[in-house]
Amino acid sequence: MQIISTDVLVIGGGATGLGCVRDLAMRGIRTTLVEKGDLTNGTTGRYHGLLHSGGRYVTKDPQSATECAHENAILRRIMPHCIEDTSGFFVITPWDDPSYGDIFAANCRKTEVPVHEISVAEMLRREPALNPQISRVFEVPDGSSDSFLAAHTNALSARDHGALILTYHRVAELIRAGDRVVAAVVEDLRTGERKRIDCAFVLNAAGAWAGKIAALAGVKVTVVPGKGTMVAMNHRMVNTVINRCKLPADGDIIVPIHTVAVIGTTDIHVPDPDVYGIEPEEVQLMLEEGEKLVPGFKQHRALRAWAGVRPLYKDQDVANDRDISRTYKLLDHQQRDGVDGMISIVGGKWTTYRLMAKDAADEIARRLGNTRPCYTADEPMPVPDFEHRSGNYAGAGAEKLYYLGKPLAAVEEEHAYGDLICECELVSRARIQAAINSGASNLDDIRRDVRMGMGPCQGGWCIYRTTALLYEQRSGMTGDASQSGIQHSTFNIQHSNAALLHFLQERWKGLTPVLWGDQLRQARLDELIYVSVMGAHRLREHAEQGGGLVTDNPEVATA
Ligand SMILES: Cc1cc2nc3c(=O)[nH]c(=O)nc-3n(C[C@H](O)[C@H](O)[C@H](O)COP(=O)(O)OP(=O)(O)OC[C@H]3O[C@@H](n4cnc5c(N)ncnc54)[C@H](O)[C@@H]3O)c2cc1C
Repeated sequence: MQIISTDVLVIGGGATGLGCVRDLAMRGIRTTLVEKGDLTNGTTGRYHGLLHSGGRYVTKDPQSATECAHENAILRRIMPHCIEDTSGFFVITPWDDPSYGDIFAANCRKTEVPVHEISVAEMLRREPALNPQISRVFEVPDGSSDSFLAAHTNALSARDHGALILTYHRVAELIRAGDRVVAAVVEDLRTGERKRIDCAFVLNAAGAWAGKIAALAGVKVTVVPGKGTMVAMNHRMVNTVINRCKLPADGDIIVPIHTVAVIGTTDIHVPDPDVYGIEPEEVQLMLEEGEKLVPGFKQHRALRAWAGVRPLYKDQDVANDRDISRTYKLLDHQQRDGVDGMISIVGGKWTTYRLMAKDAADEIARRLGNTRPCYTADEPMPVPDFEHRSGNYAGAGAEKLYYLGKPLAAVEEEHAYGDLICECELVSRARIQAAINSGASNLDDIRRDVRMGMGPCQGGWCIYRTTALLYEQRSGMTGDASQSGIQHSTFNIQHSNAALLHFLQERWKGLTPVLWGDQLRQARLDELIYVSVMGAHRLREHAEQGGGLVTDNPEVATA
């Protein structure tokens, strides 16, 4: 068995784990991160996309509000390419208690969330699609954020500081020597190879799976997975984040992000972070609530629905799930459980990931005798290669973003992008090739990296093109060609078929909850292309006849 030796092993390639690996590496601590899927495989890849101003939490969770307000300013500074400065409105609709407006504004001031009231006329001038019956509007510095890009940005920075990041590596065992965790056994899910990672510290940043990781060390951590469903609409009917001005509830925020507007979310506790579905009533609720903010919301085309699970940490002394706090918690298992060598960081939000990482890294550095201070708030982060676009439509101004066709028309006129592979998201051949070169090994990895297949056609026109590019580049490779240190076996036509089938099936999961109107027509067209013309229903057979899937492990490619 291969043995890797490191000072700190971070488990989890979501926002928190990536923040931790960057912070530790910047202090000169030898750090390795393992993630069982691609980066953002967990909740970080399935969230709402809001860079919180803190406004949402000013009354119920003031500490979180202040943390969000501070981190909001820091993240804008250190990774501006991951954030769109949309601004945010908290609006009082006819369904909300008008007296909450003054309480909200006062609590914003108490918690350091910048706020000012604007007139309804000014709101309608800036966002004409909003409900004219809205009676009051408070503006806060909300933004929208690209968590996929932010993850790669953090990973790139961490690697630049010497960290090792291993994706598709699942922690199978934690090894204890007496009362101390000293190593982990991880399995490379693509090759089946097992590796032992010896370390001085394990940092458990496995989000909703943190309880499962803790259990491997014989420690009890209760994380209640809180499922939230979101629906992406194919137009940015607003260019500002719109929040209902009331205590947090279901379906009360619309976030404009890239080419879409996302409404969310619900909050339903589920028994297991890997087992949950999307109920039709959740989608219906989102559309009904959207209608209260934007009249005619339901007439817009819903693109897809997805859900993620909040990592809600339940303290030992909390009896009722409803009393679980939304702030984060650092668990020192030496003090708490008498097990040394392991720390868990649980709860929190995407917006506060850097702060969570700082707290965890401060504690580990102290225990390792490392005195270098945290400077993650000061050093701007690098931009991953595949992000270099010739024109970033996300920052192109409100007018261009209203309908998807407009940026495409502009790009086609300017001939600025080279060959376009995905017209909906304006993804060029060069960016897809860069993503493959950076380590993306299947079509879903590429989707997360460059947003290919995330627009209205849900990949109808671009998946087969991207599959060809993946095949073209991977089939020539036999060794380790990725920055992630993953070994690619010879990539053949059967692997391409398996990747294509897997991608189609994954897209289908998000389409089924929104199959009506234009999206139903689109799904039918995609079915005609892939099933009737290309015979995609026979791909499984082909993949199996010709030597198996991209990987035989069902967690990586369940064809
Ligand atoms: C519906 C919803 C909407 C949200 N919206 C927002 C928002 O708009 N703004 C905001 O700031 N926050 C939002 N949040 C909260 C935010 O998304 C999460 O707090 C954050 O993404 C958690 O990141 P994480 O890194 O802690 O966990 P995760 O992203 O879940 O990362 C944990 C990782 O651990 C990996 N892992 C698990 N087991 C193993 C193992 N055995 N071996 C190796 N790896 C393993 C998983 O694959 C996963 O990738 C939302 C959450 C939900 C559920």
